[in-house]
Amino acid sequence: MTLDRRNFIKLLGGASGLALAGHAAAQGKAPAVSAGSAAEIMPKGSARRVVVIGGGYGGTIAAKYLRMLDKSIEVVLIERNKEFVSCPFSNFYIAGLMPDMKALTIKYDKLAANHGIKMLHADATAIDAAAKMVVTSQGRLAYDRLIVSPGIDFMTDEIEGYDARTPEIFPHAWKAGPQSALLRKQLQAMKDGGTVVIGVPLMPFRCPPGPYERACLISSYLKKHKPKSKLIMLDANPDVVSKKGLFTKAWNSYYKDIFTYVGGQITKVDTKAKIVVADNFDDYEVAVANVIPPQRAGNIAVAAGLTDDKKRWCPVDAISFESTIHKDIHVLGDATLLPSDGGAMPKSGYSANSQAKVCAINIVALMNDKPTTELSAINACYSAVSETESVSVSHVFKVVNGKIKITASAVSPADFSIAKTEKAYGESWLKNVLTEMST
Ligand SMILES: Cc1cc2nc3c(=O)[nH]c(=O)nc-3n(C[C@H](O)[C@H](O)[C@H](O)COP(=O)(O)OP(=O)(O)OC[C@H]3O[C@@H](n4cnc5c(N)ncnc54)[C@H](O)[C@@H]3O)c2cc1C
Repeated sequence: MTLDRRNFIKLLGGASGLALAGHAAAQGKAPAVSAGSAAEIMPKGSARRVVVIGGGYGGTIAAKYLRMLDKSIEVVLIERNKEFVSCPFSNFYIAGLMPDMKALTIKYDKLAANHGIKMLHADATAIDAAAKMVVTSQGRLAYDRLIVSPGIDFMTDEIEGYDARTPEIFPHAWKAGPQSALLRKQLQAMKDGGTVVIGVPLMPFRCPPGPYERACLISSYLKKHKPKSKLIMLDANPDVVSKKGLFTKAWNSYYKDIFTYVGGQITKVDTKAKIVVADNFDDYEVAVANVIPPQRAGNIAVAAGLTDDKKRWCPVDAISFESTIHKDIHVLGDATLLPSDGGAMPKSGYSANSQAKVCAINIVALMNDKPTTELSAINACYSAVSETESVSVSHVFKVVNGKIKITASAVSPADFSIAKTEKAYGESWLKNVLTEMST
């Protein structure tokens, strides 16, 4: 639900609004009160303005390409954090294969300076689609068009016993940063002989191959440092959802004594007793539990009424990425629900990057009364199967009759014959994409 104009203006007078709005947004509900300060920050002049919420894989690229394509459009990028930590490759860090997260971390100063992007480090707490205003923890600001690329948040109420403190004991590490550090620390502190559980949620979720890559790298860590330990993967899906043949080959050939794949959805957690309960009628006593809860679009998208009936993902047009619910608001990356014919674009950084470029091209076209361009995009996804080897799957997507369709695909050879080379390709992709996002 979006605030209507009357409520919006009324609420701007509320003194205690900020905390409440932030809390409501964090719960994924429409905020009862918006930011208390009536101050309009960055008042809009005569220039046309696009505001972007979220400085991650989608938002940074959209902001950059908008400015590269049309310097007459003012671009404001709202991001709550001063630094961005990449989820891609965070599994290497978790498994102790990187000394720290420096190679995963980018800042925004060069991006902003090089392209004249106005950065606003604030929390976006509400969107008034009728008044074309974003409410933030610093005040409100006006837009002509808005891009929302907030990534994901979690549907934790689907797991009994899961509360605000659960991720401090059973980390999800599905947003990179402190959660990744905690999971790594727990693995390193664990006694040899302990049981580690990774809980995979039902699709769709961010990065379908991510849990299976994590299983490979944590197994590799245990094999080397704690060989009496076990890793159990509880998968809520009927089967491995990505690169099944390649991951199964790695598990069977490298990690047979450590790793077990089990069907089952985590339905309950008990952090005191250190037990996770699955719907396969088994309880698992854990030394370390990496519980990845089911996911939906980031809280701001839900709070702004951009999500579908299930309050999960944001339906968008496949060409412009404009929301089918609110005009002049575009949604990118993990938060989207794209109309697809056969193969959905995976929720990946690569997809978000591709979508951001097409979205920027089409926003500039729409703002200049020019025809739009149909999406043609790639997603290539590299996943590590061991410390030194990676595999990949790639797809080419096109829009056919308003829906996204896969027109070509490629997958790594089953014998891992180029897996060492693909590890290098993956590293180079990460370096390139993070450089593109930060300069
Ligand atoms: C373990 C793991 C491994 C992965 N590996 C790969 C990989 O190898 N290749 C790949 O392509 N993808 C990978 N991914 C997926 C990739 O991380 C995501 O698909 C990608 O980050 C999505 O981009 P996004 O722009 O939608 O969201 P994000 O990149 O998460 O960006 C969202 C940004 O919005 C900000 N934000 C959110 N809400 C607000 C708000 N209200 N106000 C202000 N700021 C806000 C956040 O702070 C964040 O910076 C992986 C994911 C995981 C978890």
